[in-house]
Amino acid sequence: MTQNNLEQQVNATYIDMQSGIQVSLLHFTPLSVCSRAIRTCWDSHAKSDGGGDIDKGLIYRVGNINKHKSTLEHLFYNFEIKGITRACLQELARHRMASMSVKSTRYTLKELNKEESFLPINDSNIIRASKYITLSNNNTIREQSLKALENLRLALKEKIANDVAKYIIPECYKTELVWSINARSLQNFLELRSAKTALKEIQELAHSIFKALPEEHKYLFEEYLHEPECAV
Ligand SMILES: Cc1cc2nc3c(=O)[nH]c(=O)nc-3n(C[C@H](O)[C@H](O)[C@H](O)COP(=O)(O)OP(=O)(O)OC[C@H]3O[C@@H](n4cnc5c(N)ncnc54)[C@H](O)[C@@H]3O)c2cc1C
Repeated sequence: MTQNNLEQQVNATYIDMQSGIQVSLLHFTPLSVCSRAIRTCWDSHAKSDGGGDIDKGLIYRVGNINKHKSTLEHLFYNFEIKGITRACLQELARHRMASMSVKSTRYTLKELNKEESFLPINDSNIIRASKYITLSNNNTIREQSLKALENLRLALKEKIANDVAKYIIPECYKTELVWSINARSLQNFLELRSAKTALKEIQELAHSIFKALPEEHKYLFEEYLHEPECAV
């Protein structure tokens, strides 16, 4: 793959219009690295077509059919994820075979400290609040989330240190991170987290991550992805 192609691919951002989750692919390993690793096992480099259809078929056969899964660990993906809640972050963090760097609440709370009251609950305050929290379609949960955000803002106004105020951050509070994962672990993540039994938000995240993948890599992951519950 040329540098130009690589840059075009990695600039793709997938934004989920329902949840507002944004996933951008920052970087990825070309498939030719994985096929080269596989061919090293059997010294079959002469049969390579430079990462073309023959090599793609080999990766699928060895990795997905023969379950020689360690070969898929050579493929690595770096994503930037914005707009997930801390509830979703907590579940994402359970995937140990991945690396994450999360925006510090020390910085996000500084922004909140500059805000005026989020009450009463009306359209303009809801729009202002949606910069900080994900708002549920359920009226009761939406109302309580706004009140929780307002309580947090009031605590910050009392000059309570961010490290102390963070203990009242609601689970719906938004965060962002860089998340890096290899193809083997990503298959496992997509299978577990796109399932209908998973939290709806992490289902949406799983589909957004799949959509942000390079087109020519998707064939390795399609069979692990469950159908979305609704259009995402
Ligand atoms: C629908 C759903 C509901 C859930 N509910 C709960 C819940 O109620 N409570 C709760 O605590 N968690 C819950 N989880 C989290 C779940 O138990 C896992 O922690 C999470 O899905 C990460 O999966 P993983 O361990 O396969 O992934 P990773 O941590 O990324 O691990 C990837 C793979 O590496 C291997 N591996 C990693 N670490 C070890 C190890 N120490 N020993 C052996 N092999 C290892 C395993 O093969 C594993 O599948 C839930 C998950 C789902 C999808």
